[in-house]
Amino acid sequence: MRDIETILVLTGAGISAESGLATFRGPDGLWEGHRVEEICTPQALARNPALVQNFYDMRRAALARVVPNAAHHALARLDAEWPGELLIVTQNVDDLHERAGARRMLHMHGELKSALCRECGGRVRWEGTLADGPACPLCGGKGGLRPDIVFFGEMPYQMERIEEALAGADLFVSIGTSGAVYPAAGFVQTARYHGAQTLELNLDPSAGSHFFHESRVGPAGLLVPEWVGDMLGDRVTDAG
Ligand code: NAD
Ligand code: ZN
Repeated sequence: MRDIETILVLTGAGISAESGLATFRGPDGLWEGHRVEEICTPQALARNPALVQNFYDMRRAALARVVPNAAHHALARLDAEWPGELLIVTQNVDDLHERAGARRMLHMHGELKSALCRECGGRVRWEGTLADGPACPLCGGKGGLRPDIVFFGEMPYQMERIEEALAGADLFVSIGTSGAVYPAAGFVQTARYHGAQTLELNLDPSAGSHFFHESRVGPAGLLVPEWVGDMLGDRVTDAG
């Protein structure tokens, strides 16, 4: 096994589950009661803007009622203390990684707390609602703001940077993601192709579990602090 200096972490909805945010494909296959095609596509937004805007307004408002859990805090600690390179790529649109203090991270599927203007193409930090059609603070256009979320059929953000990180990683760790949404679901194979060790931490074996060198099954709130402790050498070892 080669020495680990460069770590790439991929997180999904499962890392925020213990904070009280529902995952995408919960037991009922729905996201907060909706089929994903009803709310996560550009077509849905065009057909039924009120439904889609209200849905994301509610998800944005829900962030005020949740806090980061032990898994977010552990990754923030890894970010602060890991001496080598690290990048946390999250598919999540919540802000729990950054609220825990993580800095070396990016949101590949966008963020609830950002709005995208369809008129000027600009992005603005957003805390309030969008369903009421507020004016764009950048261009003054009315009703052009949509959630800055990557819908199905749209290109995830910062793919070039992610591809580069996948090629350079010594260790790729996937946390709380179902392995059902591409291109993220394929990252493990890319990282492995380039020689990375690969580790999955998930509540259930995911669709892509067999692609990983190692899979640990359990809640992120337990598994992530444990793994981070191992990486940072917390474990008490025999002096002899
Ligand atoms: P997913 O819902 O498809 O899969 C979640 C995975 O997490 C499952 O494999 C599940 O077994 C696992 N899981 C559930 N509870 C867990 C726990 N306590 N510890 C560890 N693992 C646990 O999520 P995904 O793969 O991230 O799907 C991607 C899409 O869902 C993304 O595009 C994302 O934007 C969107 N989404 C985001 C949020 C959020 O930001 N919090 C919430 C729901 C959906
Ligand atoms: Zn604008």
